[in-house]
Amino acid sequence: MEKYRVTIGLEVHAHIKTVSKIFCGCSTEFGAEPNTHTCPVCMGMPGVLPVLNKKVVEYGIRAAIATNCSVAPYSIFARKNYFYPDLPKNYQVSQYEKPLAENGFIEVTVEGEKKKIEILRIHLEEDAGKSIHDMCEGSLVDFNRTGTPLMEIVTTPCISSLAETQEYLKTLKSILQYLGVSDCDMEKGSLRCDANISVKPAGEEGLGVKTEVKNMNSFKGIQRALEYESERQIEVLEGGGKIHQETRLWDEKAEKTFSMRSKEEAHDYRYFPEPDLVPIVVSEKWKEEVLKTLPELPRARRKRFINNYGLSDYDSKILTAEKALADYYEDCLKKVKDVSGDKKFCKTVANWIMGDLMGHLNEENKSVEESPVSPEMLVDMIELINKGTISGKIAKTVFDDMYKTGKAPADIIKEKNLVQVSDEGEIIKIIKEVIGENPASVESYRKGKEKAIGFLIGQVMKKSKGKANPAVVNRILKEQLK
Ligand code: ZN
Ligand code: MN
Repeated sequence: MEKYRVTIGLEVHAHIKTVSKIFCGCSTEFGAEPNTHTCPVCMGMPGVLPVLNKKVVEYGIRAAIATNCSVAPYSIFARKNYFYPDLPKNYQVSQYEKPLAENGFIEVTVEGEKKKIEILRIHLEEDAGKSIHDMCEGSLVDFNRTGTPLMEIVTTPCISSLAETQEYLKTLKSILQYLGVSDCDMEKGSLRCDANISVKPAGEEGLGVKTEVKNMNSFKGIQRALEYESERQIEVLEGGGKIHQETRLWDEKAEKTFSMRSKEEAHDYRYFPEPDLVPIVVSEKWKEEVLKTLPELPRARRKRFINNYGLSDYDSKILTAEKALADYYEDCLKKVKDVSGDKKFCKTVANWIMGDLMGHLNEENKSVEESPVSPEMLVDMIELINKGTISGKIAKTVFDDMYKTGKAPADIIKEKNLVQVSDEGEIIKIIKEVIGENPASVESYRKGKEKAIGFLIGQVMKKSKGKANPAVVNRILKEQLK
């Protein structure tokens, strides 16, 4: 690997989150009965005329501004001609010569180094339908997705590692989600990614011959596919062979890419301007209006979390990566009156979210929106710790129970009798028992082996079923040992 340099360019297709399709009034809802969200326009019937959904353009402008692109005052749609059963018009309405936006960048940080990933263009287009090949002897087509609005975001070949690829995709996804322009749910196909990749010997000018890799369905899949493909290319070059420009498909099961078509077989899309649609004109005024509606973006929110809540860069990066998670965190803080002076509380909430909550959610592959523990429940629990009602250790049990049952922490504590014992009389009783039962440890503590107290504290906690207040135990045990 060290002898070679890898160069990657990415094409991301993101579903634009509008209620209706790009050129007709059909719903874009995911998962409906096949072919129920269709009409003559998205079915490509003869004589119909498309009408552009203004919201699609507005969301495109949002994404363009947030990725530092310049929005074209004038852009046009084009027909991309090819035949496929799930494309009823036999062309896709896309943008070619004059895209909506160009020349932007997204800044990423990889291993402490900042890098600008250059965005070549963002254009708008319609999605095709879906072919289903494994349900019966023939193939089936579902046209519900036909005409779903997409934005295609294309980078220059400026990415020079797999780590940069992952960081760019994560950052882009996060920005699009914050903007509210796309769900970016790879499982539902609302974020798809193709990659151009080439390798060349280190120190050599220019770029190597690239291949295009398609059909990657997850961030992990992208990582593995590009790992495989770069190693494959290096092997070919090391063996004295040549790389052929071609399109290759990633096979998730076989963990290999294989050739789909060569350059000679590449489609000639015969692009030409779409005559049924008027050009898109974006005035300065419109751009300014959209700019005013832009929400706080991940980078700014991260900074605010560091400054206002005293979080570390690491913590705030995790908490702001997803808008929903950052919202959850701030919902927790809002439950308490003035949080800005209480950095300890801010950090405690962050720890519970990043540790226990995310642990449970990740285990079940759930999003924070599906969390059975509401911000209110979490904050109530933390306040019970702070008041000394339960210990931090018992709180772990309470949290697990809240997650499983959705019950309020106070109810769980009552039901399971988990209230922390701070009553000195009760604690002294247990301590006396423990001292009596462990003469050897008591002896070695008195001889100066201070570590022995740890064992004795452990025994007291065990006897109290974890409910004794550790601070009180510590103090009284020392007194009694004297
Ligand atoms: Zn339609
Ligand atoms: Mn496209």
